[in-house]
Amino acid sequence: MVVGDIATGTDVLVIGAGPGGYVAAIRAAQLDLDVTLVEKEAYGGTCLNHGCIPSKALVSATDVAHEAREAEHMGVHADPAIDMAGMTAWKDEVVDQLTTGVERLCKGNGVNLVEGTAEFADENTARVAHGGEGQGSESIEFEHAVVATGSRPVELPALPFDGERILSSRHALALESVPDSLLVVGAGYIGMELATVFAKAGSDVTVVEALDQALPMYEADVTRVVTQRAKSHGVDFHFEEAAADWEEREDGVTVVTEGEDGTVSEYDATKALVAVGREPVTDTVDLDAAGVETDADGFVPTDDRARTNVDHIFAVGDVAGEPMLAHEGMKAGEVAAEVIAGEPAALDQQAIPAAVFTDPEIGTVGLTEAEAEEAGFEPVVGEMPLRASGRALTHDDTDGFVRIVADEADGFVLGAQIVSPDASELIAEVGLAIEMGATLEDLVATVHTHPTLSEAVMEAAAAALGQAIHTLNR
Ligand code: FAD
Ligand code: NAD
Repeated sequence: MVVGDIATGTDVLVIGAGPGGYVAAIRAAQLDLDVTLVEKEAYGGTCLNHGCIPSKALVSATDVAHEAREAEHMGVHADPAIDMAGMTAWKDEVVDQLTTGVERLCKGNGVNLVEGTAEFADENTARVAHGGEGQGSESIEFEHAVVATGSRPVELPALPFDGERILSSRHALALESVPDSLLVVGAGYIGMELATVFAKAGSDVTVVEALDQALPMYEADVTRVVTQRAKSHGVDFHFEEAAADWEEREDGVTVVTEGEDGTVSEYDATKALVAVGREPVTDTVDLDAAGVETDADGFVPTDDRARTNVDHIFAVGDVAGEPMLAHEGMKAGEVAAEVIAGEPAALDQQAIPAAVFTDPEIGTVGLTEAEAEEAGFEPVVGEMPLRASGRALTHDDTDGFVRIVADEADGFVLGAQIVSPDASELIAEVGLAIEMGATLEDLVATVHTHPTLSEAVMEAAAAALGQAIHTLNR
């Protein structure tokens, strides 16, 4: 211990107060454990401060403007103006409300909150350097620890972030004015969501993507709908081009890309957003001192009980690897807390949904048809196109479909791919079906409210059985 240290002890030390960490801390406290949660920056982590919540706030706000602008054929005439500073201020209020809520929930559940950076000293002790000069430090002895230090944007060596011209998603979500033009590098989750936001806000958006389609982790017919819609908003796509260099211009940047065949292209823009993935944050915490191992990509491997190679040290959320989604981190946080409390908890990765908040949205859960075949099933597939949905027509939004994948032999629902407005909400029904071992017949037998988009889930299940009413059975 160094001079000035305070020494304390705790049952469970949680490092990082993002979705993985704060949920682990609250759940552990609910289970009567003494819990200390250390956060170095802001309660709620990336998700609440610089990720899920601010991005979805901007998605909603720019949707309002866009829909109002495009509604003349519905008899609505409006000419909305975007005040980006006002939008950002509203978004910050939403963030504040939620981060304050997380702090309150932690305190209300009896979690000890410590502001500072925690670093392992050995496998049962961490040192916390408190934030701010002269704030001192403390040593915390722990029985169990949960590493929930999250992730940060990958920086391309050729295009380092400067916050002015070369932006990370964090910079882009804090802009006070709409850039005249925006070059987005990477058509993944962040690239596609923010390309849509800024196109709707009035920016001239160009996207360059190294692979041959947007959102390459999804099936081609899923992403085609979203890519086409983005094009209709004015987004210009260039596939099979990797960002390789950039130059400063007086009023912005020139980004240089290289195609697989060596073709070089140049794009001018006011700003460039680089969204090429996220990497784990482990350099803040000295995992070596506790003997915690990482894999070749720097993530902390864990078992289905969220345990690292060190029995009493757990890792949850982005630092533990794919899928890097807030709800996965929250579930892993709960599991870690329950395992620490001696409960028989484990992670069931099969039914973890994912959503992309593009226009329209994408929602998926479980297996695709190809994955089901690969896993040894004989899948049966049913689809309901949105153009046959009454509610989609009244939303004036009919591009997309609901697809259900099931096991032909017994009808068990295996997965779904949904492209539609509110697909992020619709996918929950299929997640529940998979968790509960529901069959296609169960989905069809469930009465769905009319007129809703959720009827399309029922209709897709009916189509898989050859019993669709609102589309022709093949
Ligand atoms: P984080 O949220 O990254 O939290 C980690 C915390 O640990 C941070 O607060 C950090 O300050 C703290 N920390 C790090 N080291 C230390 C230390 N040594 N001591 C103390 N504290 C430390 N996911 C979704 O599911 N849905 C979405 O819509 C979505 N949208 C996103 C949009 C954007 C723009 C981005 C960037 C991400 C988005 N994500 C989304 C991903 C989501 O944000 C992450 O999956 C989630 O935040 C991971 O939670 P976590 O707890 O693992 O880590
Ligand atoms: P991503 O992995 O989703 O996409 C990165 C894209 O960049 C890929 O398509 C890749 O081919 C491309 N790429 C890589 N290098 C390139 C280069 N030099 N030039 C051009 N293209 C290049 O990564 P992201 O968009 O940064 O998001 C990071 C993570 O954050 C996601 O994987 C996800 O886990 C999480 N996230 C989730 C949501 C959500 O749940 N709705 C939203 C945002 C972020």
